[in-house]
Amino acid sequence: MRKFYFVLLFFCLSISSVFSQKRIVFIGVDGLGSRILNKADTPVWDSLASQGSYSYNVNAVLPTLSNPNWASLLMGVSTSDHQIWDNKWRKSDFEERTFCNQEKGNTVPTIFKVMRERYPEGNIAVFHEWKEFTELIELNTLTYSFYEKGSGLILKASDYIVKEKPLFTFIHLDIVDKAGHTFGYRSIQYKTAVEKADSLTGVIIKRLKAGNALDSTIFIITSDHGFNGKGHGGRSKKLREVPLIIAGAGIQVGFRLPDGLHNYDLPVTLASILNCTIPDCWKGEMIKELLESSEHKTKLQ
Ligand SMILES: [Zn+2]
Repeated sequence: MRKFYFVLLFFCLSISSVFSQKRIVFIGVDGLGSRILNKADTPVWDSLASQGSYSYNVNAVLPTLSNPNWASLLMGVSTSDHQIWDNKWRKSDFEERTFCNQEKGNTVPTIFKVMRERYPEGNIAVFHEWKEFTELIELNTLTYSFYEKGSGLILKASDYIVKEKPLFTFIHLDIVDKAGHTFGYRSIQYKTAVEKADSLTGVIIKRLKAGNALDSTIFIITSDHGFNGKGHGGRSKKLREVPLIIAGAGIQVGFRLPDGLHNYDLPVTLASILNCTIPDCWKGEMIKELLESSEHKTKLQ
């Protein structure tokens, strides 16, 4: 594969203009616990990890269900703060149940809203296979959202990124979770679905590279929870440990992140990278270690 070099003119934590030019492609793979990665063949993610920063023991929140964990990954707080405890939660429940700084009706903002406030004209897009995913996102926040089941979603997302070059693109893949519920963690189908999600990530990277849309892009791969048998929701380590791979412009190369990170540390980190104001009620910690020091150049292959 031809080497592709990101050129960093300069990099400094305190210089916000560099951050603001970066773009983020966030691939959320539903139901991808870390332990399957010991068994599955995932060359694309392995390559991203070796070219970026990674952890395979980021803590999901309890309960290990999709909605609470996607909420934490978007809202920078744990379940007790966003109050989204199950998959039945809907946007209409916001005012009743959600609090920011203990004020009723003052909702915990998502990373999408935080970015929208910072970049009123910025392109913020979501492509999702789980229909209810956008229930978590405030109205009038996204530039574009597209729902479709199947691998065609990746092609649509890739084409959109190449054409529109969004500031932030979130892609929710459901293939792994679906295989887990249908066939179980130990099935060949679950492992195959994980490998398919890896190859779909490769499709995006290839298309972005061909479309000259890879420059200044940061890729993120993470998940909401793992699997136990055909289900999830419990407290065990195998359900709670999820991967976090982050690679691209300005990110440390080949760096294993410290243990003990929480999934709700990610929104704070992304908001900082894009020079957004961190909401007072977010509780995650910035993952400072993944930022590259000024003298390095980041290269992606
Ligand atoms: Zn599930």
